[in-house]
Amino acid sequence: MHPREPVTRAGRIRARDLATVALVEEYASGCELCRLCRDRTTVVTGSGPHDADVLVVAEAPGYHDDRTGVLLAGPVGHLFDTILADAGLTRAKIFLTSVVKCRPPTGRTPFPDEVESCEGWLFREIQLVQPKIVVTLGQLALRLVTGRQEQLREVHGAMLHAHVQGRDVVVWPLFHPAAAVHVDSLTSELRADARALGTLLQGARSAPQPRSAADDIPSPLPEPVPAAVVPAPVSDDPDTGEPQLAFDV
Ligand code: SF4
Repeated sequence: MHPREPVTRAGRIRARDLATVALVEEYASGCELCRLCRDRTTVVTGSGPHDADVLVVAEAPGYHDDRTGVLLAGPVGHLFDTILADAGLTRAKIFLTSVVKCRPPTGRTPFPDEVESCEGWLFREIQLVQPKIVVTLGQLALRLVTGRQEQLREVHGAMLHAHVQGRDVVVWPLFHPAAAVHVDSLTSELRADARALGTLLQGARSAPQPRSAADDIPSPLPEPVPAAVVPAPVSDDPDTGEPQLAFDV
């Protein structure tokens, strides 16, 4: 799908232009906001149900992802599918996205300015999907979503709390499958954390609380640990008062 108009550093995207997840992915597919657009094959946008209860944030597309357009493809994807199963989930039940949508050269970690350029897409996805739980994969996704500066090693597999785009969300930090795929001990920890997430989800489903037919996971979830507030990447248009995404230029 091609964007209706190019998104460039000179472009200007208003929140009203991104009223649906489909529009976010449409515009993002032509994004040229950072240097990562030069070497990419595909902009790997978010995928999954647009009303998913669980939204998973990976770090960036990998080699196979860049070629297939599918996030967490290849061997890393096999491990990801395993941990989803550990949590009682499948790809069909989650919305899967990433901090940056284009593959960094050689698979390096995205630079801070690249994250800053791209984060508006992610925050808009979270705002529109309105998940009950955001599962972060790796340190970068954790820090971006929560604003926390703790080490992932210290907080993985435990429930946190963040305020994103005006909403309180529960965050469940996991190690990134790409870091664990060749390290047996890390794989074991990752799978244990995923099983703990599954226990949380199962408990939420069986909780005797009112729920709508569309909800797989009733609210409220157990009280999360307070975390730093993430500044919403929006500001008001000085002329119209229209909310603006942070990457407006
Ligand atoms: S990484 Fe994000 S900001 Fe950079 S070009 Fe790709 S979609 Fe745009």
